[in-house]
Amino acid sequence: MEGKVRIGFYALTSCYGCQLQLAMMDEILQLLPHAEIVCWFMLERDSYEDEPVDIAFIEGSVSTEEEVELVKKIRENAKIVVAVGSCAVHGGVQSWEKDKSLEELWKTVYGDGKVKFEPKMAEPVENYIKVDYRIYGCPPEKKDFLYALGTFLVGSWPEDIDYPVCVECRLNGHPCILIEKGEPCLGPITRAGCDARCPGFGVACIGCRGAIGYDVAWFDSLAKTFKEKGLTKEEILQRMKMFNAHNPKLEEMVEKIFQGVEE
Ligand code: SF4
Ligand code: SF4
Ligand code: SF4
Repeated sequence: MEGKVRIGFYALTSCYGCQLQLAMMDEILQLLPHAEIVCWFMLERDSYEDEPVDIAFIEGSVSTEEEVELVKKIRENAKIVVAVGSCAVHGGVQSWEKDKSLEELWKTVYGDGKVKFEPKMAEPVENYIKVDYRIYGCPPEKKDFLYALGTFLVGSWPEDIDYPVCVECRLNGHPCILIEKGEPCLGPITRAGCDARCPGFGVACIGCRGAIGYDVAWFDSLAKTFKEKGLTKEEILQRMKMFNAHNPKLEEMVEKIFQGVEE
């Protein structure tokens, strides 16, 4: 990219964990001679949401009508749009119960509380605008962010990760807690890149990086394994939906395993 690169960091509804993760990267300071941060409300109150940028990083899920308009505006103003983190890429954990009505969910969490904005069910950014690249994780790994940014800056395009957490788990030599302890680990269907952090601590993966793409997340095979280990269909669906609620294949594939089975 020629001259100073104009970058914007935009926040939708989220826990702000992704922004915090980015804000803690010292490497971004080294970038300042070459880049202009046009928008980043977490660090600078005088930020501009409607200025043109070369790269727009969006975190959070689209959860209000106002955010629908915001993401459209960001898209119009940006050459490259990057969805950052599970909220932006997959709708986040706040999409978990997306099959329930907004009214029911609202009442459960906020009772009769009112807000000034127009709430809606949480959705991935991609449901509204074209996203050019995704950085996975809740929050994302620093190395993934720096890799993507560095690649854009030299005028190239970062590669996607196309293998599951199990690959990194095996390479690290961790014991398989799914096979050896019967823990409901989602590593086989989850996109790698975290170096199998949770299984490394003996904790089952909950799939925070989202299902591996290219239609190769075998929800059905893993559901069969979980079923053999005694999990009910509802337990399996709940676990797999935590970060994959918007995946169109999930329910259909899990359903296959339970066809004709009385629960
Ligand atoms: S992806 Fe995770 S860390 Fe990032 S904003 Fe959403 S909930 Fe927070
Ligand atoms: S512990 Fe989980 S991530 Fe590791 S190999 Fe077993 S199923 Fe895969
Ligand atoms: S092991 Fe699973 S839950 Fe843990 S960080 Fe990696 S993808 Fe997320």
